[in-house]
Amino acid sequence: MPELPEVETVRRSLAPLVVGRTIEDVVVRCRKLRRPVPRDLAARLVGQTICAAHRRGKYLLFDLGGGRSWIFHFGMSGRLLHVDGSRAVEPGKHDHVIARLEGKAKRKGARKGATEGVGAGRGAGALVFNDPRRFGLTLVDDPASCPLLTELGPEPFDQAGFNADRLAELRRRTNRTVKDVLMDQHVVAGLGNIYVNEILFQAGVRPRRRMTRVKLPECERIVDATRAVLREAIEHRGSTVADFLDGIGRKGGYQWRHQVYDRAGQPCQTCGATIKAVVVAQRSSFYCPHCQV
Ligand SMILES: [Zn+2]
Repeated sequence: MPELPEVETVRRSLAPLVVGRTIEDVVVRCRKLRRPVPRDLAARLVGQTICAAHRRGKYLLFDLGGGRSWIFHFGMSGRLLHVDGSRAVEPGKHDHVIARLEGKAKRKGARKGATEGVGAGRGAGALVFNDPRRFGLTLVDDPASCPLLTELGPEPFDQAGFNADRLAELRRRTNRTVKDVLMDQHVVAGLGNIYVNEILFQAGVRPRRRMTRVKLPECERIVDATRAVLREAIEHRGSTVADFLDGIGRKGGYQWRHQVYDRAGQPCQTCGATIKAVVVAQRSSFYCPHCQV
């Protein structure tokens, strides 16, 4: 599932291709995502120009100006791919939304939802939102008031919003494990199963430890590890553990640097102990029994 580094990687790969482009045509082929694609999506997008590409937590936002953004969440398996303007897009099975960007080729008599190629011509290509498991979402809204975004906690790189004191304060208010706390998008936005496992390894704290039992210096290590792991993961363009691809179809490289995630039974690269896995609430947690306490 795309987490902050993957969404940031998609943003960076797409920004040079889409910023400044005008959305010329939108075809919604399937509305049945986690949150149904709004009926007026196409009407709200056509004719708009993408002014900037932002990220908030695991959301990707294309700023359309006037307080409106085209917002995406990739759920478990969502992808947003840019397809070159020199060829038509043959819609694939799970291509739910196809947006043709600025181009002169006007097709007469085109039908909405038609299965013929979309995006033919010499335009600036097309954006294709593909999501086999359909847990993703897309909509147009004002990011300043959209509840999906306003309910998010601070960004991990926001020193004032996410720091050891804030994390330590939570100890009085929760009975949850430290892993559950870090996965909570209200506490800090953008983390998921892969990076929380890696962060807790780097911080030396076991995932199932109760938050109430995490000491202040450990909170400091967790915050530092969060920023260090995310920074390195972004540098390596995210992790491709199942099917993640960036906006132009490239795999990430950070999966080769995972210390614990999906490494159960393999030796810890720091101490040689065997990495363990425990399943809590259907999510696997991985840790080194020697390096993490
Ligand atoms: Zn170890």
